Parts: sequence; structure tokens; C-alpha cells
Amino acid sequence: MKLSKDVIQLIHGGGGAAMSELLAKVLMPNFTLRKVGEGIGLDELDDGATIPVGDIEVVVTIDSHTVDPIFFPGGDIGRLAVAGTVNDLAVMGAKPVAIVDAIVVEEGLPVEDLRRIAKSMDEAAKEAGVAIISGDFKVMPKGRLDNMVITTCGVGFIKQGNALRDSGLKPGDLIIVTGTVGDHGIALASVREGLSFETELVSDVAPIWDVIEAALKVGGVTAAKDPTRGGLAAALNEMASKSGVGISLWEASIPVKPEVRAASEMLGLDPLEVTCEGRAVLGVKRDKAEEVLSAIKTTKHGRGAAIIGEATAERPGFVILETEVGGKRIVETPIGEPIPRVC
Ligand code: MG
Repeated sequence: MKLSKDVIQLIHGGGGAAMSELLAKVLMPNFTLRKVGEGIGLDELDDGATIPVGDIEVVVTIDSHTVDPIFFPGGDIGRLAVAGTVNDLAVMGAKPVAIVDAIVVEEGLPVEDLRRIAKSMDEAAKEAGVAIISGDFKVMPKGRLDNMVITTCGVGFIKQGNALRDSGLKPGDLIIVTGTVGDHGIALASVREGLSFETELVSDVAPIWDVIEAALKVGGVTAAKDPTRGGLAAALNEMASKSGVGISLWEASIPVKPEVRAASEMLGLDPLEVTCEGRAVLGVKRDKAEEVLSAIKTTKHGRGAAIIGEATAERPGFVILETEVGGKRIVETPIGEPIPRVC
């Protein structure tokens, strides 16, 4: 696909290199005040931002959800909206406290669909222990919007200076992923392509504060990110370049479900490049990594966690995959999410 300089394309919303360039050239330069005091602001492009207030920092994050279809195997747009926001707070090191939402619906949507989605939002919020405290609701004329868009803003708190960043990796740190990768993106792609498998492909969408909390209680966590759009490939590249380290990734250690691998091959997709919605990538000090891994594995959504690589002083900014057959290849940031509208 040719990248346009003049009009917005779907790929610009894919969370990859095309979006980064658009943000850097079109959006960011037009915002003047980009942080509050010494807090984390827009320039960091982290999973959220912080506002220092006395000896605490308020952590805030926001996402819009445009997933198609709105009901998919393993979840729906409501669960996705709450989980996505909870997880962005979690990977900043903040316990999610409150969510405010904005729901925009296309005229003609069955009320029963909206009710199901509200219940699903509530279920995810209860799992995460987060309250939905305010919101907005609007309707667009038929044909002007595809079913619905849900925007969720989340708030949490941390002690001053305790924010977990995606830029904190140091050479020698080990990399942990909290579960199998590619489940969400491949489940959606399969539904859209009408593929069916013996084992149903199900999204991993889930709020995972408890997984992060378990890791933080052990200590030694140096960096965190949720591998959403652009998958593990985009998340690790961002962590490597912001931290100024290289990352060696061990292919044989990366957990991928056999059915996700099979579907990926049929669809011509790389599971490392597609969205996860219930996973995190953590950098952990080497001497704490086994203990952190064990703690994560005791949580419901962390059972499939694994140590998948290490941060290195060599090749800063690069992610190098050591393949199962003993070769090496560079894992690049995808230009965009290979499957549009997954979140
Ligand atoms: Mg994120």
C-alpha cells in the first residue's frame, strides 16, 4: 500500500511507523503545552501521562475503540474498552481507580446490543476493581458511523516518581511476556475471513492489573508496555529505542498457541505483529526475573507467562530474533497494524 502525504489512511491508525510519523508531523507540533510540571507528558508517548499533585502523581490515559465486529470470540467492544484502559494504567504501574466513558452509537443499533455491551463493560470493571464514574452518550445518523465507538479515559494514582515507563530497560534485564501472543488479532482476522478451526480462536482481551501488581510486589520491574497495535514487535521496538538498548528475542521461548500459529500461516500474518489485549511485556532485573515470572504465573491471566529475551548493550534500538533454527533476523516495527480496526 502506498502511504499518502495528503489524506488519512487506515494504516495511519495502526499504531506502527505510519502513525508515529503522523503524530510527530501533524499532531504533536500543534500542541504547545505538552506536560504538567515534572509529570510524564505527550512527548514521552507512553501508555499514559501523569500529573504531579503533592507527593503523588495522578495517572491518566485514554483510548477510543473502533473494533469490527463489535461482538467477537472471547469478548466485545465493551470488555475491550475497559480492559484497554485498565491495562494502559497498569503498565504505568498504577492501580486503576476510575473510568469515564463516551459512547457514540449509530442510529438503528438494537438496544439489546447496547445493554449487552454495558453489562460486559461492568463485568470487566468489576474484575479490575475499577468504577465507571461518568460518561457521555451520543447518536449519529444511520450510515455515518459503523455501529459504535467507545472512548474510555482511566485514572489511577502512584507515589511521586514511581511511574513505570516503557523506557526503563537496562542491558542485562530479562524480558517477560505475560501470556501467549497474537490471540486477539488473529481471532478477529479469522472471524472476518470466515475461517473456522477445530479449536476456536479466542481473544485474550482482559484487564490485567492483578498480573502487573503481582510482578510489582516482587520488585525489580524496570519497564512495562502492553503489546496492543503492532503487537510484540511494535512494543519491543519502542521499548528498545526509548531505552537505548538492544533486545535479543528467543523465538523458541515466545508463547504462541498452536491454533494461532496455524491461522497466522493461513492468513499470511506474523503473530508477533498483531494485537494482544490482555498481555504485558515487562523488563525485569535479571536476579528477580524467575521470582517475578513465578508470581505472574499464579494470576488468572498470567499462567502462560514466559521469559522471552534480554536487553543488551549491543545494537541499541534494534530487536533481534534468534530463530528456532539458529539464525538471526531483525524484528522491525510494522508500518501499521496488519489487521485494521482490531481495537
Ligand atoms: Mg498501551
